[in-house]
Amino acid sequence: MSSIPAPSGHSTPDNSPLAAHEVGGIGGHPRGLTTLFFAEMWERFSYYGMRALLMLFMVKTAAEGGLGFDTKSAAAVYGTYTMSVYLLSILGGFIADNFIGARRAVLVGGIIIATGHFTMAFGNITTFYAGLVLIAMGTGLLKPNISTMVGSLYRPSDERRDAGFSIFYMGINIGAFLSPLVTGYLAQSEGWKAQLTAWGLNPLHSWHWGFGAAGVGMTLGLIVYIIQRERLSHVGAAPAPEPDGSRPWGKLGLVALGSLALIIAMKAADSYPVIVYLLFAIQIAAILFFAFRPDEDSKRLAAILVFFFAAEIFWAIFEQTGSSISLFADKLTRNEIAGWSFPSAYWQSVNSIWVILLAPVFAWLWIALGSKQPSSPVKFALGLAFVSLSFVLMVPASKLTAEGKVSPMWLVGLFFLQTVGEMCLSPVGLSTMTKLAPRRLLGLVMGIWFLAAALGNKLAGVLAGHFESTNANDLADFFLKQAIWGGIATAILFALVPWVKKLMGGVR
Ligand code: GLN
Repeated sequence: MSSIPAPSGHSTPDNSPLAAHEVGGIGGHPRGLTTLFFAEMWERFSYYGMRALLMLFMVKTAAEGGLGFDTKSAAAVYGTYTMSVYLLSILGGFIADNFIGARRAVLVGGIIIATGHFTMAFGNITTFYAGLVLIAMGTGLLKPNISTMVGSLYRPSDERRDAGFSIFYMGINIGAFLSPLVTGYLAQSEGWKAQLTAWGLNPLHSWHWGFGAAGVGMTLGLIVYIIQRERLSHVGAAPAPEPDGSRPWGKLGLVALGSLALIIAMKAADSYPVIVYLLFAIQIAAILFFAFRPDEDSKRLAAILVFFFAAEIFWAIFEQTGSSISLFADKLTRNEIAGWSFPSAYWQSVNSIWVILLAPVFAWLWIALGSKQPSSPVKFALGLAFVSLSFVLMVPASKLTAEGKVSPMWLVGLFFLQTVGEMCLSPVGLSTMTKLAPRRLLGLVMGIWFLAAALGNKLAGVLAGHFESTNANDLADFFLKQAIWGGIATAILFALVPWVKKLMGGVR
């Protein structure tokens, strides 16, 4: 592996001893990892904290302080928003690669995100939409580029890289776990509304306190990032301009237009499902096109596209947590453990709890296995296998609903299996992108990675449209069909492992 050129852009020779900045962080990792861990933890705090309120705020009536949308329009806004947040990563990655570098992109993105959340703290429809647009644009700038910076902290052959991403991923999920508790309390609790009334403030504005808290979270992330900026001074620099001093403004325009066109096309998939098949066909054609070109970079791109396809299928099942699974939790599960009953919305935090418990195990496992750890295509196939198994588990659970509400242990098991799959695929995917991408395309390739999440989120919405909660057999079929398709994808990916490894040209 040391014979290949350094794609991730780390310039330190592989065999020299570790420098001071390459250690001294969480778990003996580079110092910069600690900074990125906390910055991303707060960014995700703001993202998931706001997301937890978004749907509810839209459907609540004006008398309840909400916007009074019907469920269908609210779901449409929600779907387009969550897709756009990830889809704009392509644009954000391109801007970092060609204009301002990852380090500055994260800073500017964070400022735009915080502005977006604070904009939503004001209560009218214009500030609401303006806030959503700002958050989506800011996240597009921040999310791919903070991820590439994690990768740039490691040398190409550093065995700690996947473990580093597992730790980073834990930061993401600490933020994701805590924030709905905070923003949910501010937006919905009677206690906080009474407090607002006692202060002479309007209790119907409680939602906007929730949105404001998300903004405060992002601001804390920015403070960490700015105070500790010198720990990251060796990564994510701006690229040099062309010899004539120019920058690719024309291409920027094309990427922006392309992103907008893709958002519009994917929105149309709601009414024209054929778009989904077209999308799959284009992906297969692109993999074959690049795989059979002679140059190394094209072959790596083909490998990236295989990972992309697998991730898209993974997220299409996984991201039903907020739809199919949330309905299963609400209507068909006994939400009670040891005599304590809880609201069904609490299930949304269970995935994050599992990540917090399992991330250290995986970080340790990858380090302990060292050079014997499975290759990234095998880890991806394992990810797909576990997420498919999680839906297999839902087959007997669904059958049992014929006799009434089922034990909460089914969903605990579902989230456990999904999180094991997530740990094999998602942090590993981030890490693999930083290994495979040519240095000048690092941000763009990470943007492509998040595009898989964008499309997966959209597909999850399309699939969840077939959820059926009134007939136990139909419900079992709903899960079984998806588990079978997931199983087929897993088998194909396992079969492709040797080929993908070859395409990766020595990168593990
Ligand atoms: N839950 C993870 C995060 O928020 C992964 C999201 C994704 O890539 N779809 O970063």
